[in-house]
Amino acid sequence: MAAVELKGLGKRYGAAVAVEHVSLRIEHGQLVCLLGPSGCGKTTTLRLIAGFIEPSEGEILVGDKVLSSPARTVPPEGRNMSMIFQSYALWPHMTVAENVAYGLRIRKMDRATVEAKLKAILSTARLEALADRYPGELSGGQQQRVSLARAMVVEPETLLLDEPLSNLDTNLREEMRFEIRRLHDRYRYTTVYVTHDQAEAMTTADLIVVMNHGRIEQLGTPLEIYDQPRSAFVARFIGGSNILTGQALDAGHVEIAGARLVAEGRPLKAGETVALSVRQHEIDLLTAPPTDGVNVVKAIVSRGVFLGSSRDYTAVLGDKTEIRITTPPDRNVMPGAEVWLRMPARGCRALMGGNEA
Ligand code: ATP
Repeated sequence: MAAVELKGLGKRYGAAVAVEHVSLRIEHGQLVCLLGPSGCGKTTTLRLIAGFIEPSEGEILVGDKVLSSPARTVPPEGRNMSMIFQSYALWPHMTVAENVAYGLRIRKMDRATVEAKLKAILSTARLEALADRYPGELSGGQQQRVSLARAMVVEPETLLLDEPLSNLDTNLREEMRFEIRRLHDRYRYTTVYVTHDQAEAMTTADLIVVMNHGRIEQLGTPLEIYDQPRSAFVARFIGGSNILTGQALDAGHVEIAGARLVAEGRPLKAGETVALSVRQHEIDLLTAPPTDGVNVVKAIVSRGVFLGSSRDYTAVLGDKTEIRITTPPDRNVMPGAEVWLRMPARGCRALMGGNEA
């Protein structure tokens, strides 16, 4: 069973660098998410794997077979990969069943095999009742299930998904994340999934590759990426974290806006500048000064938004740093109020390399 391997992959457009030094091994049957903000190089990486574009440097291998290198490129149709696009790309004049079976028919499979495979995938993708409808008669979520079924039925070696849920509304997007994971668990195709939505990556991926400016910023399981962000970029992007900058007092304490806060994550050197990552929802917002005052910093609330299941506050510390806090919905504080923010010792994480904030 072959793994997909990217070795020192790069793509330049003139002087502009879209992807640079990307090395990654995707084991057979793994679902890997390429996650990052707009323009970070996710789609370019996916298109390189698909063979739609050629690399400026590096190689793509499946097992020990080279698919792409600057010297040689196997065309997309020779790669045994299926790609799913944001736009679904269904044929409007074909029914659901005809759309799904198309890939089998062009592979010249006999009628009985086509019927058996079609029946199985329509059942797994919960599309049996819709088999005779045309795409125009389906909801967005149903159309996306058809495009998934169409890509999976041909049993590709690798499945490539480019922002597959971005055209769906919030509820449907959440439902479809589980659907994609369920189908993946059933078929176990090696899958590369591009998204800018961290929740989508967290719920679907075995492995998340966080990209920034064309490079891999961090690679790890969803838990590793969430719990041990290596940089301020990853902490902000994944964990909804504040990044506070302070001065180390000793190996385990940092001074921020006049307060002494407990830091964890790595031993500190007294006097060094430290970037601390603190998750919004792990800060306790107190409206009276706590008697112990341990790990507490004073702030003034500048803004509060009611979000139904929570409230989102912005407060300003003594050194003018803005900090965001998520509280339960019943914690109602007016702008201008003085508050005390209790930082959990476990939540104040010292990031690598001091001044990354
Ligand atoms: P998005 O989420 O917005 O699709 P992305 O992370 O997928 O973004 P890419 O589409 O891979 O980003 O683009 C990476 C960088 O390469 C961008 O700065 C983009 O402008 C540039 N780029 C992509 N394709 C081309 C092209 N054909 N010509 C020139 N520059 C390009």
